[in-house]
Amino acid sequence: YAKEAKMNGYSRFDSSMHEAMLQRIKLENSLAKALERNQLELFYQPQWDVALNKPVAIEALLRWNRSNKGRVFPGDFIPIAEESGLIIPIGRWVLLEACRFCAYLHSLGYDDIYVTVNLSARQAEQPNLVDSVRETLEEAGLEPRFLELEITESLFMNSLESCKDKFRQLRGMGIRLALDDFGTGYSSLTRLRLLPFDVLKIDKEFLREINAEQSEIIRTIIKLAHVLGMEVVVEGVETVEQAKFAADALSDRVQGYYFSQPLARENLLTYMARVY
Ligand code: C2E
Ligand code: MG
Ligand code: MG
Ligand code: MG
Repeated sequence: YAKEAKMNGYSRFDSSMHEAMLQRIKLENSLAKALERNQLELFYQPQWDVALNKPVAIEALLRWNRSNKGRVFPGDFIPIAEESGLIIPIGRWVLLEACRFCAYLHSLGYDDIYVTVNLSARQAEQPNLVDSVRETLEEAGLEPRFLELEITESLFMNSLESCKDKFRQLRGMGIRLALDDFGTGYSSLTRLRLLPFDVLKIDKEFLREINAEQSEIIRTIIKLAHVLGMEVVVEGVETVEQAKFAADALSDRVQGYYFSQPLARENLLTYMARVY
């Protein structure tokens, strides 16, 4: 009896593994098609400058509009795109699209707005990263100083050494580099000193509960970032209290639902017309 139960257990496990694998292959295939069929879309979330009290940047955030399945969020497909390598063509599309939209905003008179684009570790590791970014900017007609690239700390720590040189070249062109989701990965405060970043984005987890200790931690991170010559963005600002706290802690920029959700192009234009 025990043996039979074990066998059944095993075969059930086996078939669910099989099922999961099939699901994954299907998802990978439809993601590849989505790129060709124009089903990928960028949303844009404003970042406000605290001192100027107006939006100064927009972060491009990828959405996948699946024909029958509605909108899929990056958490559900970026990992698959990364593992399959699809993130390379997708990332190239994202960068071009985001830079073009930023150039378009400039043409409408919002001529100091810059765009921030998330770069996956896999993209950062590409040997031709620098040329590819340069060509994309040229194609979009956007000056490098209007582009900020965000790299999640936990994703690239393994390959940091191999990327450092490329990062230096990107910065040499005038592109800013931001360390995304700071606090979720492994970089210590002291390691920050060694990293070639212009901007530190403090992860939204830090805002979840602002007690005395937590708030002192955030203030200290911001002070240190400033000592190291970095700008700070506090993400995940959802309430007026959090917005006040971030400003009081001397964050340079703030981003979150309190200011705006990520918006489709048209809605972003409406938003800009209202608040800029
Ligand atoms: P991220 O770069 O840290 O982006 C911020 C995420 O927080 C976004 O989720 C955004 O919608 C969400 N968010 C913004 N404000 C708030 C807030 O006030 N409260 C809360 N709870 N959440 C807020 P989203 O759009 O689902 O993206 C998730 C992650 O997927 C991004 O995190 C980024 O790491 C990745 N991602 C998005 N687009 C791209 C892309 O084009 N390329 C790559 N490689 N990764 C991307
Ligand atoms: Mg980001
Ligand atoms: Mg992230
Ligand atoms: Mg983040």
